[in-house]
Amino acid sequence: MPAGKDRIIVIGGGIQGCATAYFLAKRGQDVTLLEKDHIGRHASGVNAGGVRRLGRDPVEIPLSLASMDIWQSLQGHIGDHADAFHPCFYLKVALDEDGQALGVDRINALLKAGFKHEIWLEDWEVKRRLPHLSCPTYGGILVEGDGWALPWRIVQGFASAAVKHGSRLVEGCRVVGIERGRDGWQLHTTKGLLEAAQVVNCAGAWAAGLSALAGDAAFPLSPYAPMLAVTDSRPGILPAVIGVLGQTLSLKQLHSGQFVIGGGIRARANLETSRGEIDIPALAASMDLATTLFTAITSARIIRCWSGIEGYMPDGLPVIGRGSQPGLVHGFGFSAHGFQLGPAVGEALADLVMGQQPRISLAPFSPSRFETT
Ligand SMILES: Cc1cc2nc3c(=O)[nH]c(=O)nc-3n(C[C@H](O)[C@H](O)[C@H](O)COP(=O)(O)OP(=O)(O)OC[C@H]3O[C@@H](n4cnc5c(N)ncnc54)[C@H](O)[C@@H]3O)c2cc1C
Repeated sequence: MPAGKDRIIVIGGGIQGCATAYFLAKRGQDVTLLEKDHIGRHASGVNAGGVRRLGRDPVEIPLSLASMDIWQSLQGHIGDHADAFHPCFYLKVALDEDGQALGVDRINALLKAGFKHEIWLEDWEVKRRLPHLSCPTYGGILVEGDGWALPWRIVQGFASAAVKHGSRLVEGCRVVGIERGRDGWQLHTTKGLLEAAQVVNCAGAWAAGLSALAGDAAFPLSPYAPMLAVTDSRPGILPAVIGVLGQTLSLKQLHSGQFVIGGGIRARANLETSRGEIDIPALAASMDLATTLFTAITSARIIRCWSGIEGYMPDGLPVIGRGSQPGLVHGFGFSAHGFQLGPAVGEALADLVMGQQPRISLAPFSPSRFETT
C-alpha cells in the first residue's frame, strides 16, 4: 500500500466503518478501511437485522429517521444488496398494565416532542394485525415501514459500494499502535506501517482500546455478547418484527419460515479472543416469551444459537464525533441498536472527516460527554 498523507484510514469493517468508507469514497476521498478479521465478522454481520425506529431514545430519533431515509433508498447506494432489506411493520406489544402505561406514556412524550412515527394500537388492532397471536395484549406501539434485513449482506453491500467508488479494503489487518506525528497519524498494523491524515475509529467493542492507543480519552465502553437463536422452517404466521414493552425480545420470521429469536439478552464477551459466550438459560427466557406470544413456535426446533460482540456505553447512546486529538473521529458504542443507524452514521462521520456540518446534530453523542472536570 502506498503511503498517503491525505489518506483517511477507517478502522473497523462493521456497518459503521463500511458505510463511512462508502460515503467518503463516493465523495472522491482517498480512503482505506482496515479490518482485523473480515468484513461483517462481528456485531454488524451477525445481529438480529432489526431495522427499527421504534423504541429509540428520543435524542437518537433524528439520527434514526435520517438513517431510515437512506434505508428507503438503499438500492441507489448498495445496488442489488438492497434486496436484503424487508420493510414490514414493527410492533411492540404490552402484555400487562405496566407495559401499557410505558407505551402510552412514551407515545404522549413523543407527540409532545413532535414525533409521530410511533402510534398506539388497541388490543383489537394488535389482534387484527397479528391473527396468530396466542395471548391477550394491552395494546402496543406500531411503526409502519420499519422491518428487518439480512445483516451480513447489507454490510457486504456497503463494503462493495465503497470499493466500487475507489476505497481500499484490507482484511486480516489489525491496528496495534497509533501515533500522532507532526503532520498526521502513523498506524502500526499486522500488515505494516501506514500513514494517514485522518483516522476514523469504528472499531466496535474494541474502540476504547483504539482510542487509548491514540492517546485520546478513556471511554467507559463495556463489551457484551447479545445472543440469538434460529429455528427450523415453519408455516408463515408472523408478518412483522415483534417486541414486548418493558421486556427484552426481538422476534421475526424470515421468508424461509425460520424464526429468529433474541437480540437483547447478553452473555459475556472476550475482546482478546474476539469470542462471545452463549448463556443458554438466559436465552431460554427469550424463547419462553416468544412461545407465550405465539404457541405455534413451540413446535419449531432451534437449529442454531450464536452471539456477537457489541460495545455498550453507560447511557446506551453511541459516541459519534471528533476526538480530542486532531484528525481523529470516533463512531462506536452502539449498545445493541446500531445496525439501523449505520447508514446515517456513515454519512455523518464522512461529513466530520471532511469538515462539513452533519445534517443531524451529533451533540447527544459527543465523545466529551463523559469527561470529568
Ligand atoms: C446479536 C446481536 C443482535 C443485534 N440486533 C440488532 C438489531 O436488531 N438492530 C440494530 O439496530 N442493532 C442490532 N445490534 C447491534 C448492531 O449489530 C451494532 O450496534 C452494530 O453492528 C455496530 O456496528 P460497528 O460497525 O460499530 O461494530 P462491529 O460490527 O463490531 O465492527 C467493528 C469492527 O472493528 C474491527 N476491529 C476492532 N479492532 C480492530 C483493530 N485493532 N484493527 C482493525 N479492525 C478492528 C472488528 O473486528 C469489527 O469487525 C445487535 C447486535 C448483536 C450482537
